[in-house]
Parts: sequence; C-alpha cells; structure tokens
Amino acid sequence: ARELPAYARRVVDVLEAAGYEAWVVGGWVRDALLGRPGHDVDVTTSAPWQETARVLRAAGIEVHETGTAHGTVTAVVEGRPVETTTYRVEGSYSDRRHPDEVRFVTNVREDLARRDFTVNAMAFHPERGLLDPFGGEKDLAARIIRAVGEPRLRFEEDALRVLRAVRFACRLDAMIEPATQAALVACAPELSEIAQERIGQEMDGILATGRAAWALRHEFAVLSAAVPELAPMAGFDQKSPYHDYDVLEHTARVCAGVEEFAGGSPLHALRWAALLHDVAKPACWSEDVSGRGHFFGHPEEGARVTRSVMERLAIPREVVRAACALVSLHDFEIRATAPSLRRMLLELERCAPGQARELSFALLDLKRADAVAKAPQCMGYAVELDAMSRVLRAELAGGGVWKTGQLAVSGADVIRERGIEPGPGVGMVLAQLLSAVMAGEVENEREALLAWLRW
Ligand code: ATP
Ligand code: MG
Repeated sequence: ARELPAYARRVVDVLEAAGYEAWVVGGWVRDALLGRPGHDVDVTTSAPWQETARVLRAAGIEVHETGTAHGTVTAVVEGRPVETTTYRVEGSYSDRRHPDEVRFVTNVREDLARRDFTVNAMAFHPERGLLDPFGGEKDLAARIIRAVGEPRLRFEEDALRVLRAVRFACRLDAMIEPATQAALVACAPELSEIAQERIGQEMDGILATGRAAWALRHEFAVLSAAVPELAPMAGFDQKSPYHDYDVLEHTARVCAGVEEFAGGSPLHALRWAALLHDVAKPACWSEDVSGRGHFFGHPEEGARVTRSVMERLAIPREVVRAACALVSLHDFEIRATAPSLRRMLLELERCAPGQARELSFALLDLKRADAVAKAPQCMGYAVELDAMSRVLRAELAGGGVWKTGQLAVSGADVIRERGIEPGPGVGMVLAQLLSAVMAGEVENEREALLAWLRW
C-alpha cells in the first residue's frame, strides 16, 4: 500500500538528486496507510519554488506555476499532476481566511506542524519511510481526528478547519478527539467569516462521503454555523401524526436513506436535496385549533431557500437547478400509472431542463427515503414506490413523452399548419399538444398530430 507511484517518485528523485529534500505529504500518505490508493500526490520540498521549477524542467518535466505566492508549482509527469510546494509556515490570519504572509522554512517538521490534523500531517519518503511527529499513524488506525497543536489556536487561525474536521471524521468514519471537539464547538461561529465558496467545497465534501446523517446528528453546531438556514430544524416538533421525529432527525434519516436506496452513490443533487428538503418546514408551519401542525407551500419555499443557499455556496448551476427541482417536487403526488409518472417527468423537465430522466429515479429515491423516515404508518407508501419505479422504467424504455422536443411534430409544423408567426405562440401550441398527448387524447404520431393541429 505504501508503494509510491513511479510518476511521483520521479519528482522526489529529481529534486533530491539536485541536493534538495523532498517528501510526499498530506492526503496521499493518509490514504496509502489506509490501503486506499489513487489519491493525488502532493510533494513538499526544501527547494524554493523557482529552483523546483528549474530543476524539474531541466530533467524534462513539464511545470506549471500554479500557486507561486504560496510556493506551489505543479509538475506533470506521465500526464499526472504532482503539486510541489516549498516547506512553509503561515503567518497570522487577520481575515481568518488567507494567511497574511507565507514564510518559507528549511525544516520539514515545521511544514508538518502548520497542517490541520495529525492524520494529515505525515510525510513519506520511499527510502527514509514515514515521518510522523504528531502520531498521525496511531490516530489514523484508531480513527481519531485530532488537531495538530493547540486546537483552539488552530481553529482561530483558520475557522474552515472546523468544517474540515467534520469532513474528515465523515470520510474516515472517525471520532473527533475531545479537546479538538470542544474547540470545534467554541469556534464554529467563526465560520461566518469564511468565504462562502470554501464552505461550499467542504459541505460538498461532507455530502460526498455519504455520512451527512452522522454530521447532522453529532456536529450540528458546526453544520448550522456553516449553513445558518439549517438551524431551525433542530428540535422542531411538527405535531404531525405522520412524523415521529423532529425535522433534524428526520433529515438525518433521509440523508442516510438516499445513500441506501440510491445504491451508495447517489447524485450530487440528490444529496443536497436530502439535506435541504424540509429546510422551510419550520417557517411554513402553523397549528390548527386541534393542535395539529400544517404546512403551507413548504416545498416551494424549500426550493427557494435551497437555491439561495446553494448559489451562495457557489455550487454548479446545474446541480442547484436539479436539487431545487427535487426539493420542490418531493411532496408531489405520484401514483404508479404511466400518466402520473409522465406528469412527474414533465414537472422535472420544467424545473431542470434536460435532466428529467436522470432526476426521475432520484426523486423516487428521495420520496422513499422521506417515507421511511417519517412514521411506521408511512411504510406502505415506500412499497408503492417500488411499483412506481417499475412503471417509470417501462415508461422511459417505451418512449413515453413528457417534453415538447419528443413530439413527432416540430415548431415549423405548427407555424405551417396553423399559419402563425414564429414566436412564443408556437411554444404554447406545442405545450397544448404535449398535454393532449400526455392525457392520451392523441397518439404521438406525426399524421395524428398534424390532424390535431389542423383541427
Ligand atoms: P482530499 O482528498 O480531501 O483532497 P487532502 O488531505 O488532500 O484530502 P486538501 O484539502 O487537498 O486535503 O489539503 C492537502 C493537505 O494540506 C492536507 O492534508 C493538510 O495537510 C493541508 N491543509 C489543507 N488545508 C488546510 C488548512 N485549512 N489548514 C491546515 N492545513 C491544511
Ligand atoms: Mg487534496
């Protein structure tokens, strides 16, 4: 497992042959010790970056100056990138985001000491072996996330580390060491000063581990500091006979459920939708005279909040659109019939153009996870969802129609047959035609559709 790939070894060897010191650091070392190969290789070296670039280029290696302000260049060997950074420590962090200065140092131990967690602060050299001054190997074996140095100071330097701790705990299925955990909670509010796109990357990373449920249950102080819209979910009693849990525990169960039902690798958007599907429930809740809870328009409001959260976190536009579609339709009434499922596809197509097919199964996964995370009486619905998936599969295979582009006539046919001008009217006629096809009033067949247009 500790076999350094040849392309990375070449970078280390060239630098050392030139009289510098070079080590592999960070994620590759951690994952190699876990027997998880394939992580990008990062190298740290005593060479100043100008020297790194010169020496590697002299050996015929392609070098890109990707982050020279921080001492980083990227070598490309056999098509694989190797980020190579000069030993450095960071100065003060007055904006709690970027160090004001980086200071280059001569000792690899100092470079390791500025890293966030012990499991990320190990260096490896193919001959000299593992350099592990903070006990990262032991922590990794015991699955412990522990700050390097004084946790409170380290989180005050860079509050993003608070969220990174949660991400690595999810990723490694680890616990967070108690002093680190206490500092995490104390420093979580400082996440409000961190750039939103960095928070977005870490939140994405947490969701990608498939263990968001754990993070919601055990590190909610951190998640709700990172995304304040989540905060009202905790302890919110829905006073509904359909719900045994508060919105937070329900959401944790839905996050776990989508992993299970979508086979462990659900869509990026489905994970976001699971996290945010009920985010607007507390705001949309009201109680009737008998003390029962009701919600008005919470999926639509939820989609609005989802969009604003995800856009702020700089998540890709397509993923945002897809997640919003799933959130806004998660309570959409569906039955296991072709017309009902076509209506669902139509709605998905409207919310997330071009993604309906892919999202249709995700929506059923979300609805199933939602149903089993409510109360036992909702389990019956989960069984119905099996039938829906079967009908949906048949519908998609059999060329069911849910978007105007699938009609056997085009806008040009509408213009000719109806004698109308190009413009929005054409789309309206196509939409009417689509409804007629979906309702079974006319076959999706060219002659039949032309007749319908003439009529
Ligand atoms: P991943 O597979 O998630 O990329 P990684 O360990 O490579 O894991 P990166 O975020 O790419 O994580 O960072 C590379 C290394 O740089 C980390 O292992 C850690 O040593 C160090 N590092 C990254 N971000 C920070 C930070 N905010 N504070 C301290 N050290 C950091
Ligand atoms: Mg990395």
